Amino acid sequence: MQILTTPQDLAARCRAWHAAGEDIALVPTMGYYHAGHEDLMAHGRGLAKRLVVSLFVNPAQFGPGEDLEAYPRDAERDAAIAESHGVDVLFMPEPGSMYAPDHATWVEVPDLAKGLCGQSRPIHFRGVCTVVLKLFLLTGAEVAVFGQKDWQQQAIIRRMVRDLNVPIRIETRPTTREADGLALSSRNVYMTAQERAQAPEIRRGLLYAQKLVSEGEKNAVVLREAVLRRWAERLPLGRLDYLAVVDPESLNPLDEINGPALMACAVHMGKARLIDNILLRS
Ligand code: AMP
Repeated sequence: MQILTTPQDLAARCRAWHAAGEDIALVPTMGYYHAGHEDLMAHGRGLAKRLVVSLFVNPAQFGPGEDLEAYPRDAERDAAIAESHGVDVLFMPEPGSMYAPDHATWVEVPDLAKGLCGQSRPIHFRGVCTVVLKLFLLTGAEVAVFGQKDWQQQAIIRRMVRDLNVPIRIETRPTTREADGLALSSRNVYMTAQERAQAPEIRRGLLYAQKLVSEGEKNAVVLREAVLRRWAERLPLGRLDYLAVVDPESLNPLDEINGPALMACAVHMGKARLIDNILLRS
């Protein structure tokens, strides 16, 4: 495995592979790897001759007062994990090499970025889109892999790719979870033991909504209130950011479940802001 740290080196490496007729899969990450990242890498390994993983805590997607500085980092361990998955290039740029001091160009998908996480993180998705498009352009990858845990992110990236005719295929992988159902996240380490013990209730609340849908409930307000009541009892350490039922593609709010529907949430557990979602099936 080669570690590259400049956009120029990444582009040159990928150009050489393409010139040799080799295709490229890309897995963008912010590091501090867990089994969810490993699943994306393992999947990416099977998609193309060459696998590029980027590890970049992208300052542009963190708002003021968010956890950019505190974000957990362990480059040495991450590199060993990437290598164990047959990664060809681990791209670890310095922020200064990705953003010039007078950087002024942004990619935005405002219609899909205004709700859900976008409401409390207004600049987050423009930072994500901008860095992800940079990675798509630098690598020219044929395919990129994202996680379903960040549903809104992959929906926005799919829309960006469609709208800008970026010649890349997007694949989305199911959420990898702890045995108790908690979605794996690099931010789970922020939680105290008490918060960690309650955190699986996030997922249980979403599964409860699915149970109600299976029993015939179609009203999004009823479903939302049922989950909030359950959380009020069983997740007292949780502070709700949002809980919403939306169309999985447009991300527009739904009143009724009459087809594809996504229930998505963000909950603060102490210092950790945790997100999760479930596709509701009637
Ligand atoms: P991050 O490093 O948190 O920015 O995540 C990098 C990629 O891994 C994104 O596509 C995430 O959606 C994905 N990811 C994060 N957590 C999980 C998880 N628990 N299961 C599957 N994919 C995940």
